[in-house]
Amino acid sequence: MKKIKVVIIGAGFAGIALAKGLANKDSFEVVILDKKNHHLFHPLLYQVASASLSPGDISMPIREILSHAKNIKVHMQEVVSIDKDLKVIECKSGDEYQYDYLAVATGSKPFYFGNDDWEKSAPGLKTLTDALSIRDRVLYSFEKEEIKLNQEEKKLNIVIIGGGPTGVELAGAFAEVAYKTLVNEYHDFDPKLTKIYLIEGGQHILSSYSHPTSEKAKNYLEKLGVIVLTDEVVEEIGDDYIKTKSQKIESKNIIWAAGNRATKLISKLGVEQDRMGRAIVEKDLSLKDFPEIFILGDAANFQSLDGSPLPSLAPVAAQQGKHLAKQLLKNKRFAFKYLDKGSMATVGKYKAVLEWKGVKLAGPIAWLAWSLVHIFFLINFRNKVMVFMQWAWSLLSNKRRIRIIK
Ligand SMILES: Cc1cc2nc3c(=O)[nH]c(=O)nc-3n(C[C@H](O)[C@H](O)[C@H](O)COP(=O)(O)OP(=O)(O)OC[C@H]3O[C@@H](n4cnc5c(N)ncnc54)[C@H](O)[C@@H]3O)c2cc1C
Repeated sequence: MKKIKVVIIGAGFAGIALAKGLANKDSFEVVILDKKNHHLFHPLLYQVASASLSPGDISMPIREILSHAKNIKVHMQEVVSIDKDLKVIECKSGDEYQYDYLAVATGSKPFYFGNDDWEKSAPGLKTLTDALSIRDRVLYSFEKEEIKLNQEEKKLNIVIIGGGPTGVELAGAFAEVAYKTLVNEYHDFDPKLTKIYLIEGGQHILSSYSHPTSEKAKNYLEKLGVIVLTDEVVEEIGDDYIKTKSQKIESKNIIWAAGNRATKLISKLGVEQDRMGRAIVEKDLSLKDFPEIFILGDAANFQSLDGSPLPSLAPVAAQQGKHLAKQLLKNKRFAFKYLDKGSMATVGKYKAVLEWKGVKLAGPIAWLAWSLVHIFFLINFRNKVMVFMQWAWSLLSNKRRIRIIK
């Protein structure tokens, strides 16, 4: 019997969930293409950037995750174009793949709202390479302050642009590094002099949360020593400064956490997109007029019941991947329904905020829930154990082991 060819582009949360759903289903011949060789657990990426965890703690080779699946091939390829009419995918290498069904799950990348030149001074946090380069840059800045001869010139600012969960978590983590971990380790620079800014263009940080939760997070950050500036739209970014409408802040450590956009591949598809570049999908996650092409996760705009698109979250992507696997296995179309698992963000050590179906929690209990959920959803047992041990050690000692500058 002729096998059904499924090509999955992207081995993130959506792609992996779909591949797992089709694993060892003999009527399907599956190829998963990714430009990287590993699956990455983004929710803990800020901990690699802030020297708590190692890259291997939050990533795993795609090949290993799917090693049990005899009908799935893993190819490290970057896809550059899709011919929807001929049902052919073209890769950067020149290789081509044909499909009966195609799932595009290529995620998103930092978006600079038309100011692409800001990227070199204010890189985003999306990949392990980004996290390691942020870690290097920040740690190196402390070293440079230590050896400056002129006391007057000793000044270290870390600026995080964007008060969403990533910005909040990064700001809290860097406050812990500067004001707790590094204290007493330098002779000629006091890390407590470091200023950590979190800059948000809107009225509140964590704007997708309720107002009281957002205020709680702001209070926690301020108690940690973070300077939270809201209603401050960034107007200019240079090599070592940022300018908002009211002030200029000098910094060689500027991190962009203010927005993401679907990857370029989606624009190249020539289908309807929203302002974040996401493809508008039908209720079964397929593209209008192309029922054999499905867009999943951060790359898709799936309208929820109230008309707003589902948020770009790992559970949305994973549930969509699972849903598509079910449709393909049953050879039937049915509408995707998102099961809301709530939102949570940490704010430094022992503090987090959490909202789930009207329940609002903040403080150590929310932090405990955050920790358990993240350990649970890490990709495999080894990573769970490693992360648990690293956390236990750094919580007890206030130290961060991964303070290596490359
Ligand atoms: C720093 C950070 C923190 C986050 N924290 C949270 C959190 O706490 N909770 C939460 O729910 N969500 C969080 N998210 C969001 C969550 O990670 C995303 O919603 C989720 O990863 C989307 O899954 P995906 O499968 O659509 O894409 P991704 O997981 O991004 O995977 C996309 C894959 O496609 C590959 N790819 C891209 N382009 C190509 C191409 N042209 N050819 C081949 N391969 C390609 C990439 O290499 C990647 O492996 C966070 C995101 C970031 C960046």
